Amino acid sequence: MRKKIIVGNWKMNKTVSQTIEFLNGVSEHLHDDVTFGVGAPFTALAAGVKHAEGLFVAAQNVHFEPSGAFTGEVSVEMLQELGVEWVIVGHSERRTFFNETDATVNKKVKALLNASMTPIVCVGETLQEFEAGRTEEVVRNSVAESLKDLTPEQVASLVIAYEPVWAIGTGKNATQEIAQNTCAIVRDEVRVRFGQAAADAVRIQYGGSVKPDNIKAYMSEPDIDGALIGGASLKIESFLDIVNAVKA
Ligand code: PEP
Repeated sequence: MRKKIIVGNWKMNKTVSQTIEFLNGVSEHLHDDVTFGVGAPFTALAAGVKHAEGLFVAAQNVHFEPSGAFTGEVSVEMLQELGVEWVIVGHSERRTFFNETDATVNKKVKALLNASMTPIVCVGETLQEFEAGRTEEVVRNSVAESLKDLTPEQVASLVIAYEPVWAIGTGKNATQEIAQNTCAIVRDEVRVRFGQAAADAVRIQYGGSVKPDNIKAYMSEPDIDGALIGGASLKIESFLDIVNAVKA
C-alpha cells in the first residue's frame, strides 16, 4: 500500500522568518495519514529543517556535480549538511527558464540517490503538446529519460510528479480523468522499464492548480498518490484545508 504524499512547492517565495511562521503554524495540525512536505528556497532550508515538525522541508533544485565552477549552484553535500533529505527536480519552471532537460534531471536524480536522498521528479507536457495529442508520448519519454539507468529499487523509492505545464499556476487544473489517465501512463512506463514491483511501489503525484476543493477527487483515483501544490501551499489556511481534506 503506497502512503499518500502531499508536497507544497513555494517556488521563489518565503523568507526565513516567513518559513518559520508557516512551519510553526501548521505543525500541530498535521497527521500521519499522509506524508507532508514543502519545497522551500535555498536560503530558508537550514531554518526550515530545524523548525519542521510532522513534515519534511525539501530543496527545489540541486546541481549534479559534487563541487566546482558552477556559480550560483548548490551541491548535494551542501544540502545534506543542512539535513535536507528531499529535492524537487525537473520542475517545468526549471525546464522552461533554466534550460533543464531530461538528461540533466537524470544526472541530478542519480546524484541524489547516491547520497540516499529522495528526488521528486517532475514531468509533464506543454499546452502545445497537449493540444497536439502528444501527452502520452512526451510523458513516457520524459519518465524513461529522467530515470535512465536506475535500478528498480531506486525507482521504487522516489516520487514522480505528473504536472501538465498548462495547469501549473494557471487555475486551469486537469480534469480528474486526465490526471488519472496520465498518472496511469507514468506508472505503466515505470512497469515497462523497471518491472511490476517498481511500478506498484513508486508514488506518483498530480500537480497543477490543486486546491482544497479539488484535492480529494484527485486522491480518490487509483494511480494518483498525492499532489505537488504551488499557490495553494503558500498560505497556512489553504495548506491546512488541504491537510484536513486528505485525513483518512
Ligand atoms: C507547482 O508549482 O508545481 C504547481 C503545481 O503550482 P500550482 O499548484 O500553483 O499550479
